[in-house]
Amino acid sequence: MPDSCQRARFRVVVDVGHTLAVPGAMSARGIPEYAFNLQLSQDIKQALLDAGFVQADLLITTTAPWRGLFERAAYANNIHADLFIAIHHDSVPDKLMQTWEYAGQQQGYNDDYPGYAIFISNDNSDRAGSLLFGHLLGEELQARGLHYTPHYTLPLMGHRRRELIDAEAGVYRYDQLIVLRMTRMPAVLLEAGSIVNRQEELELASPERRSLTSAAVAAAVEDFCAARSGPVTARLAKPSPKAAVQPVRATAGALPR
Ligand SMILES: [Zn+2]
Repeated sequence: MPDSCQRARFRVVVDVGHTLAVPGAMSARGIPEYAFNLQLSQDIKQALLDAGFVQADLLITTTAPWRGLFERAAYANNIHADLFIAIHHDSVPDKLMQTWEYAGQQQGYNDDYPGYAIFISNDNSDRAGSLLFGHLLGEELQARGLHYTPHYTLPLMGHRRRELIDAEAGVYRYDQLIVLRMTRMPAVLLEAGSIVNRQEELELASPERRSLTSAAVAAAVEDFCAARSGPVTARLAKPSPKAAVQPVRATAGALPR
């Protein structure tokens, strides 16, 4: 049954995390996170265009935080975006980093926590929409053989510990993130994988992994657009959003696997 999703009118903002000057985490081989974010975001935009979302928008910000973070949200609000997706690559707290030598340089790494992670804010004006899209994105990533990292629930994460609110899809709650709480549309932040993990860094740098993630994002946007605009019959065929809102306690005992 065809859905009523109007792809050509659906506005997705793909926000490239960090800036060229303040580039985020450093990979195990000394590549800044921003380079990973930019490449993946470009592939995601192309996958969205190919799927008919011709208004897909790549948001590159040069203003440093914090002002730059507010600018990102303001941009999405001004163009009345339907969905906001921030693209990042993960690291671990400094105290969990080990060192090795790569190409003659001392570099930091941590091989323990590979996988993606999705974040939403309960302060977003469309929390249900954010959670629905986060759920769909996690399902599409897993359908392509990717897994989320459960380590954000661990006590050793300290102030970066997060509540896992969708243990099926790998969606965590991170209320304070400015780009998620100031946007007036469903918004998620995707950590596409860990660039301090020496094996996963190589995968994340490959076109194959980028195309898996891009295809998952495009499929999740299709699912989301259809769920939000489709006839009731089409909506019933989708995974129940109820499964996504079952709260899961952020204790070690609640780890999915
Ligand atoms: Zn980042």
